[in-house]
Order: sequence, then C-alpha cells, then structure tokens
Amino acid sequence: MGILAFRALDREEAFLEKSMQASLRTEVSSTASLIQNEMDLITEDLDRSLAIPDKFIPFTRPEKQAIENPLVGIVFAVSNKKEILWPKNSNTLSEQEKLFLYFNSALFTDSITIPIVKNITREYREEIIQSPKNDLDNTNDISLAKEETKPITNDIAAPGDDDVNTAAEESDAKYSANERRSVAAADEGLVQTENDYFRGMDSSVQRAEPASPSISTSKTKKVFSQEKEATEEVMKNFEESAPIRDKIYEQAEKAGAQVLKRNVVVDVSKKPEEKEDRSVFILSPGTFSDITAKENRGLFPRIIGDRFELLFWKKTKEGHFLGCVIDEELLQDRITAILPELSNSRRILTVLDENAEPIAQPEGIDINWRQPFVAQEIHEALPRWEVAAYMSDPEYIHTEAVSTTNTLWVIISALLFFLLVGGVIIISFLMQEIRLAEQKTSFVANVSHELKTPLTSIRLFAEMLVSGVKTARKKQDEYLRLMLTETERLSRLIGNVLDFQAMAQHKKRYNKRTCDFVACLKQAVDSETLRLEKEGITLRFTTRLKKLMGEFCPESLMRVIINLVSNAEKYAESGKEVTISLQKVESKAIIQVMDRGPGIPAWAAKKIFKAFYRIDDSSEAKSQGSGLGLAIVNRIIRDHNGTITVQNREGGGSCFTISLPLSGS
Ligand code: ADP
Repeated sequence: MGILAFRALDREEAFLEKSMQASLRTEVSSTASLIQNEMDLITEDLDRSLAIPDKFIPFTRPEKQAIENPLVGIVFAVSNKKEILWPKNSNTLSEQEKLFLYFNSALFTDSITIPIVKNITREYREEIIQSPKNDLDNTNDISLAKEETKPITNDIAAPGDDDVNTAAEESDAKYSANERRSVAAADEGLVQTENDYFRGMDSSVQRAEPASPSISTSKTKKVFSQEKEATEEVMKNFEESAPIRDKIYEQAEKAGAQVLKRNVVVDVSKKPEEKEDRSVFILSPGTFSDITAKENRGLFPRIIGDRFELLFWKKTKEGHFLGCVIDEELLQDRITAILPELSNSRRILTVLDENAEPIAQPEGIDINWRQPFVAQEIHEALPRWEVAAYMSDPEYIHTEAVSTTNTLWVIISALLFFLLVGGVIIISFLMQEIRLAEQKTSFVANVSHELKTPLTSIRLFAEMLVSGVKTARKKQDEYLRLMLTETERLSRLIGNVLDFQAMAQHKKRYNKRTCDFVACLKQAVDSETLRLEKEGITLRFTTRLKKLMGEFCPESLMRVIINLVSNAEKYAESGKEVTISLQKVESKAIIQVMDRGPGIPAWAAKKIFKAFYRIDDSSEAKSQGSGLGLAIVNRIIRDHNGTITVQNREGGGSCFTISLPLSGS
C-alpha cells in the first residue's frame, strides 16, 4: 500500500496536467470548429457579394460602393482562356492593385506552380486508414499519394534556393521598369520565394491537430457531418501513432511536398523526442487550375514572403473566374468576434496568426505566446494559425499537485501513525496477556504451595497427637495452637481466592451499613495480635478518636486490614513492628498500615495492586504468595469509593494509606 501511495504521489502532477490538458483541448477544439464554420459563412457571404456580371467579357470592374461586403478587397477576374481581365494593367491602377498583379499574374495564367496548403490527413486518408498501428515494417509497400502531383516547377522544399522565385521573375518580365520600381519601393524585401514564409520559423510542437474539411465544399449538412466523423477517425489514428505519422510525412516529402513546422511549442514538459513539431498541413506544388479544379468556389492562402493573403474565388458556368483579396484586418475582426471569453480564472484563450502573434488578447497579459499549454491548427486557408490556450496561473498545476500531495501525505502519515499506535497497543495487549497467563500459572503453583504448607503442618501435628507418643501437656497445647494458626492461614487464603473469584464475576456483595471505624479496626487488630505476638511481631493500633462512624461493610474492611497485616508479617520480618492508625481528615477516614520491612520500590507502587502481580515471582522467592491479597484490598476500597496508595516510610518500611468517605458514597 505504501509503495502504491508513493507512486500515486509521484504521478499526481502528471495526472493533473493531463486532465487540464484534456479539458482545454476540448475548448480549443470547439473554438477551432467555430472558426471553421465562420470561414464557411465568410465564403458564402463573399459568394453572394461578388455577383457575376451578365456580360463577363469585356469585364467591367464592379463599383466599390456596389459591393456591400467590407471583406472584399482587390477584385480580380480571369477569363476561361486564362487571360487576366481585371486588374487591367493601366496607369489608373492603385499601388495595391499593381502589387497584386505583380505577384499573381503568372499564377492566374497557369505559368507557375505555387505551394498549395493541404491537410495531410485528407491527402493521405486511405494510407492512414490502411496503416495498422503496430505493423509498420513494410512502409515501402504503401502506395504513394492517390492524386498525381504535378511536376514541380519551383522546388519549394529545397532550402537555399535562389531567392527570387519563378513567379516574381515572370512577373518582372511582364511589367515595365516603372512599375517594377514602384512595386519594389512599395514593399521592399517582400519579394521572396513562397517557401520563405515558412523557412526558419520556430520548430517544436507536440502533435498535429485536426483541421476541418475544406470550406469550399458544397455538400449537404448530413454528408458533411458523416465526412467530419470519418475525418476525425483518421485524425485520431494519425495523432495517436508516431510511426504512422513518420511514414505518412516521409511519403509526402517523397512526393515533393514540404511539411510545415508549427510555430508554437506545446507540451513543454515533454521530452524533445516525444514532441511532434510537424504541422498537419503540407505544401504541395500546384497551379491555379489545380486549386480550382474540383470546386466552384473556395478560399486559398496566397503565400507572399513572410505573410500570406487570403483569396476568394468563384467559377462561372463558362469557366471564368471572379474573386477578391480578403481584407485581413476585417477577417481578424470577424474571427475575434466569435471567440469565447479570452481570459478567465483558469485559462487564456486566443488565436495566433502566422507569426504566432495573438489576433486578440486580454489586457495586461504578457506571456510567451509561442508556448501555449494546448494548441490546435485551424484551417487550410489559415496556414500556421492556431487556437491556443494558456494557463492563467502557470503555477496552478504545481500548486494544486503540491496541495493534493500534501493532503495525501497527511492522510498516509495519519494512517501510518494509527497503524503504528494500533500495532503498539496490540503488542502491549498481547504482552499483557502473556504476562497474565504466566502469572496465572505461577498463581496455581503458589496457591498449591500455600495450601500444602499449612496442610502438611496440620497433618504432622495431628499425627503426633494421634500417635500416642507421650507428650507433655504444654507441648500438646502448643501443637494444637499451631494447628489453629495454620487453619486460619488456610481459611484466609481460601477466603481470598473465593473473594477474588466473586469479584471477577461481579458477584461480590457488600453488607454496607453504618458502623464505627474504631471498633472495626480494634476487632481486626485483636484478632491478629495474639498470632503476631507468637511470631515476635508487635501490632499496635493508634488513634485519638473514640468513635468514627461511617458507612461500610465491616467484614470487608477487616479483610483489608488482615490482608495488609499478614503482608507486613510476611515481607517485613526484619521490622517486627506493625502500626495501624486512624484519623479523620475532612469527611474522610484515613487508615494507615505501616511496617518496617524492605518497603516497595517506586516503580512497583501501582503494579502491586494488580491481580497476580508479585514483585519477586521466582521460585527462589523468600516468601510465597498468590498475588491476590492487594488486588482484593484495592477492589474492596474502590467499591467503597475510596483510594489506597503506598509510600515508603522515613527510616525504612512501607506505609499503605487508605482513604474512605465517611458517607459511603
Ligand atoms: P502476595 O502477598 O500473595 O504475593 P499481594 O497482592 O498481597 O500478593 O502482594 C503483592 C506484592 O506486593 C507482593 O508479592 C510483595 O512483593 C509486595 N508487598 C506487599 N506488601 C508488602 C509489604 N508490606 N512490604 C513489602 N512488599 C510488600
């Protein structure tokens, strides 16, 4: 149990981290879904806003005021003959339109391929489904991507390429020196290859997160949800199996795709080798025709330098294209508007753009945005964008774990303590039982001996008297007296044993009545004096009182006195003097029995009142006994609501002090 408890303590922090991760992951995932739905709505809005003109060619640029949707930026139109109808290269063009043309004319005319963002789990769906999680030895047997990839005209994956891309070169060739200058001046340094957008950015992320199916889909809701379920299943396979991911990424790279690196680092606590920093999105080269082949409308991110522009396009029946650049700021505003509460006591939640900058952030918060606790990629149209969640209190898990651990420690310590105390109690109880058993055994031996000694004497004297041997009259009297003394000793012992038996069975009855202490003590002393005198012991009774009335059982009090006196007789041989005194202190009768014997060691002062206890219980002990005398005395006194204690006297010897209430209660 101890080992289990320690292991549980060890894992507490990890467990808390996992459960927090799970709950935040759910929230992040639902936020990502919200944004995906919003992107669908934006697509629909744009579709509605950009009306296809009755006469496409010659193309008349729609009046800005006529377009109600503020998201619509630069409008473009391309004919089915791949001829750019708008923006038309003329001096009336704005700087932005010129730039737009500069970057996109080669694309619209299908002269170049550009990196198209694709969801790897959708692209390699079949392969992921077919990959058994535990049997990944035959990675080469798995067929390559189901779709034929177009030949790569600009190798997006190879690092160290020429900095000027084909698109830029071709565009350069088409535009006048004047336009080139204005373009270059407009945004110097922007002219880079598309790959530069993703080059040198932060690596390290835990795992690829699911993204929604393409927003350009026009399927019904039912089909959509079925597809979503299937997609989630594929995502799960992909996420949970590192070997599957390795194989699929390798396959994609072989097919000429570039695997994006996520720009956040989640699961900071994980070992580097366990982290997945590859994005679920890959860049696959393709032309404008490839992008627009399967659908009638859609969004695609146009990667330019270190940022991207989001374009909307729609296809007419005749195969012409109408589209626009989506205003980035307004797009961010729309996404921000649907985000849940940015910050609460538990977490901070936001959306990071392609530069890992939050598009909305709670005030006064300064954290490392690149290290969220949980993050998820969102959409093909928003590459490198992530929904990211951070803990409001980074110390939360640690503090919680410490407090839970401490509580556990307290509980375990308390349990161990009780176990220990319980163990000690049980052991001491057992020891006591063993001691009692031993004492009982020696009690039987002692009682037998005590009974045998007087019996032997009585028998011996009786035999002598019966044998008829001539004995002097004086001697005969002495024998008879000795027999009497031995008989008294016998009856005292038997009386003690019977009393003890009655007390143990709670059958002892007292005949309490109003009596005189003085008279009772005198009677006890008188009954013992003669016998003790014969032993050479003087028994004295001293009191200033003539009478002291109290409620007690005189027979029992006499037994108390006789037991104490016979103990003095037995153990205080050297003393030869036993004194009994009686005083009245307040409403109590104080009786003292004093001898000049060896006294009682302090450590045994309480123990001698326990049944069967004898200070020297060995067979070599000078005097034998049952160990019952003082136990009976103690019991009688307690049953009279009194107390008995023993002290050593000055000048040697012991003094037993009895205190009894006069009223008897
Ligand atoms: P027993 O006398 O049968 O052994 P008791 O209960 O009367 O049993 O006494 C318990 C123990 O107390 C004795 O074994 C003895 O060691 C000690 N004791 C009792 N009275 C005296 C005394 N007056 N002086 C010295 N030791 C005594």
